[in-house]
Amino acid sequence: MIRAIIYDLDNTIFPVPAIGNVLFGPVFDLIAQTGQHNHDMEAIKYAIMRTPFRLVAQRHGFSQELTQAGINLQETLEYHQPIAPFEDYPLTHSLPGERFLVTTGFDKMQRSKIRQLGIEGEFKEIHVVNPTLSSKKEVFAGILERYGYAPNEVLVIGDDPESEIAAAKALNIATVLYDPAGNFSPNEATYHIKHYSQLAAIVQGLG
Ligand SMILES: [Mg+2]
Repeated sequence: MIRAIIYDLDNTIFPVPAIGNVLFGPVFDLIAQTGQHNHDMEAIKYAIMRTPFRLVAQRHGFSQELTQAGINLQETLEYHQPIAPFEDYPLTHSLPGERFLVTTGFDKMQRSKIRQLGIEGEFKEIHVVNPTLSSKKEVFAGILERYGYAPNEVLVIGDDPESEIAAAKALNIATVLYDPAGNFSPNEATYHIKHYSQLAAIVQGLG
């Protein structure tokens, strides 16, 4: 039986590209101005909306100085306009079990997104993971321990095979890869869905 579902935030509950140019505008300006990177600006923008910043910086040849300046800047950024979730996200509200939200990123920025989505009250716990201090795996393990959940009583839902999906796999927690655009192979997770209407059958099947 599934007793708890752990959700990722970015590109799982809402599409980051819908707010990305406003939210990351100052970061894109900084990167463009310094020129201390591999100069593929469109690929950098695409990656910043989907991948933790430190990984983007490594993969796109950012200088140490630009990496640190980008981190310092993003620690100050907040989003102030309303954010709409994916149109199918409300379907998750009818699923059984406790709901947890675990997201990696800059604390102020992530908490502003949660606020602008209006979803604070939907979760038993909300965690913003700073990857230099902790990890999603540690946070997932903490949730299992605090509530006495066995790994087979929990589902982790996310959009990134390298992040929450990998962390859950390491703890033997079943995974759901939410992939509305069909970017990934179905083999990347225990379950691969394109729409949240597919989730109820998965949860029932594990009952
Ligand atoms: Mg994500």
